[in-house]
Amino acid sequence: DTILSIAGVSKTYGSGTTALSPIDLDIAKGEIFALLGPNGAGKTTLISIVCGIVTPSSGTVTVMGHDTIRDYRTTRRIVGLVPQELSVDMFETVLATVKFSRRLFGKSGHDAYVEEVLRDLSLWDKRNAKIMELSGGMKRRVLIAKALSHEPDILFLDEPTAGVDVSLRRDMWKLIHKLRAKGVTIILTTHYIEEAEEMADRVGVIAKGKLMLVEEKTELMKRL
Ligand code: ADP
Ligand code: ADP
Repeated sequence: DTILSIAGVSKTYGSGTTALSPIDLDIAKGEIFALLGPNGAGKTTLISIVCGIVTPSSGTVTVMGHDTIRDYRTTRRIVGLVPQELSVDMFETVLATVKFSRRLFGKSGHDAYVEEVLRDLSLWDKRNAKIMELSGGMKRRVLIAKALSHEPDILFLDEPTAGVDVSLRRDMWKLIHKLRAKGVTIILTTHYIEEAEEMADRVGVIAKGKLMLVEEKTELMKRL
């Protein structure tokens, strides 16, 4: 069951940098897919296009049958993006941040769903803390809670464990598996081979804007 289809997607930025050569990729519902590649490979560009934030130079992206450019509003409801940067108001509380984000999608802020998400992310006890008061690992989890606030079907995580220590990385891996068990399709970028291996059902290796290979992870480890 394909949930996301990328067909002939390329990107050349206005600066003349070609970030992506035409890419074709289908993602199955319920899978965890890792995009593995070094810095500058085009991972963020691809995720941004798929989320409808960046316009591709060519090609189309279809999310649950909706074209991400033509049906921008619909696709925004289907996808959630966890960016690399801490894109929240540090002076706001955890609970207010998630409720506000949820209301932007026209969903009630006072909802059992918000509590469930915060409990799943071990943030419920910190719900009334200002984000600036939280540890680095908790701040990252707030970004995930925010991205999940509108109940997306697909969650994108851009380098979810860049710069975090080994134990936090393991926590993040467990958490991602837990979200998948709840039915969320997950696409993440990473430059750690171990992370791709540990996390994903399939891995796509991207370098210099080209999708070099896509493998079941067991096959990947035989090759690398
Ligand atoms: P990754 O996420 O794998 O590190 P990016 O998608 O961020 O890769 O970048 C791919 C290439 O596109 C890099 O050469 C980068 O400098 C360039 N790039 C990314 N964003 C922009 C932008 N907004 N304008 C111009 N060039 C960009
Ligand atoms: P702790 O209290 O666990 O030491 P800090 O809040 O001091 O955590 O952050 C630890 C490191 O992680 C800092 O370098 C900080 O800039 C970085 N960091 C925190 N949150 C994020 C985030 N969401 N994305 C990227 N880096 C982050």
